[in-house]
Amino acid sequence: MDDIHNGGCQCGQLRYRVEGKPVKAAVCHCRYCQTRTGSAFGVSAYFPREKVTVSGNVKDYSFTTESGRSFTTHFCPTCGSNVLWSLGMSPDLIGVAAGSFDPPSFWFPISREIFIRSAAPFVHTDLPEKHETTASYAPVQEDPAALKGG
Ligand SMILES: [Zn+2]
Ligand SMILES: [Zn+2]
Repeated sequence: MDDIHNGGCQCGQLRYRVEGKPVKAAVCHCRYCQTRTGSAFGVSAYFPREKVTVSGNVKDYSFTTESGRSFTTHFCPTCGSNVLWSLGMSPDLIGVAAGSFDPPSFWFPISREIFIRSAAPFVHTDLPEKHETTASYAPVQEDPAALKGG
């Protein structure tokens, strides 16, 4: 029960606390992670919903992915940091942006990177598991042009 980690947004208004280790974690190069962070990739850690406690005001933005599933980002309405998200395909899990943990931010092991098809050409990791997309990727519609990846 002592495996508890806290984190939050840049301004400190939105905070969260997780218990235990992530059930899955990955570096993700998908266009949704690139645009939700403004960075080259996202670092995702998924926890069972009941292991995550959130405090502060949260604003949501929902969209439908190429696979026809919902993706909802949860962000701080004050500073705009996107620290959490929910995926329609995994309603029991909540995604945590690993860089938002209080130091040390990257306290759990990561061995997987996904959606390398849209990875920035200058990003080279030594993660052993690399996937073009993910096992759950099943496109049923096209993304808007601004989101199209590789
Ligand atoms: Zn904030
Ligand atoms: Zn992603």
